Amino acid sequence: MKEQRWVYMNGDYVKKEEATVSIFDHGFLYGDGIFEGIRVYDGNVFRLRDHLIRLYESAHSILLEIPYTIEKMEEAVLQSIRKNQLKNAYIRLVITRGKGDLSLDPSTCEDPKVIIIVDQVKMFPQRMYDEGVSIVTVPTRRNVPDALNPKIKSLNYLNNILVKMEANQAGVGEALMLNQAGYVAEGSGDNIFIVKKGILFTPPGYIGALDGITRQAIMDLCGRHGYTVKEEPFTRHDVYVADEVFLTGTAAEVIAVVKVDGRMVGDGKPGPITNHLLEEFRGLVTIDGTQAYPEEADEPQL
Ligand code: PMP
Repeated sequence: MKEQRWVYMNGDYVKKEEATVSIFDHGFLYGDGIFEGIRVYDGNVFRLRDHLIRLYESAHSILLEIPYTIEKMEEAVLQSIRKNQLKNAYIRLVITRGKGDLSLDPSTCEDPKVIIIVDQVKMFPQRMYDEGVSIVTVPTRRNVPDALNPKIKSLNYLNNILVKMEANQAGVGEALMLNQAGYVAEGSGDNIFIVKKGILFTPPGYIGALDGITRQAIMDLCGRHGYTVKEEPFTRHDVYVADEVFLTGTAAEVIAVVKVDGRMVGDGKPGPITNHLLEEFRGLVTIDGTQAYPEEADEPQL
């Protein structure tokens, strides 16, 4: 029998099968809302505070007042994990503007909806880590920051979805997205790093990319292991001639890119720095965050 999953909706737990929002919710009608994707590793919610800070910053930017303090939200997330009795999980935290009328005007909306979905993690196939992936540059450009800033993790993900479809049509799973000026921004749902002569580069935020939690974790690991990492703009050419290329994200973790627009990266295999950072990242995820089952963490280690 399948285990019952519970969805947190504004303080209530609703069976997964019965969890619905109104068709008049502006999250549904207009993508008016924000979200986070968070991983739980062996009961440890990886960098939960950082995800929540990003969530509250996204909310602030779109003038959406989350009806909870960050502490209450943290507790709601931890409780939802325990309610679903999962140790390894993927969390989708969604805040919509709420139910309104058919006009764009958010002032017609009632209270925001706070939704926490806790589900099993869909792991990427091991082959993708062992062999790396191919990506292509897609025609659709990243949203410009003065239209819809990519730093806002908004429910309006059409930019990313179009890019994902363009990559899929080209026969690959992930895209290389450029900004309006032609600089590399990010993937459809991941940040990008390149390695050249032992130095790592990742596009700075102003180029137009999400401030990835995994991206930051990788930069922290670089500091700890003596790698230089620079936030600098770079072009497709720099990606083609890089020694290593990798993507980072909550779902993907750290994944090597071995082919870009038909050009082989390095020797066509995941590189040593990518592999090292993936290994270190996997060491970090169970300890850097918030325990959802703290009483067990206090048990003496035998
Ligand atoms: N860029 C985009 C557009 C994303 O949606 C995501 C999250 N899936 C990322 C980058 C990676 O961010 P994080 O490491 O916080 O998951």
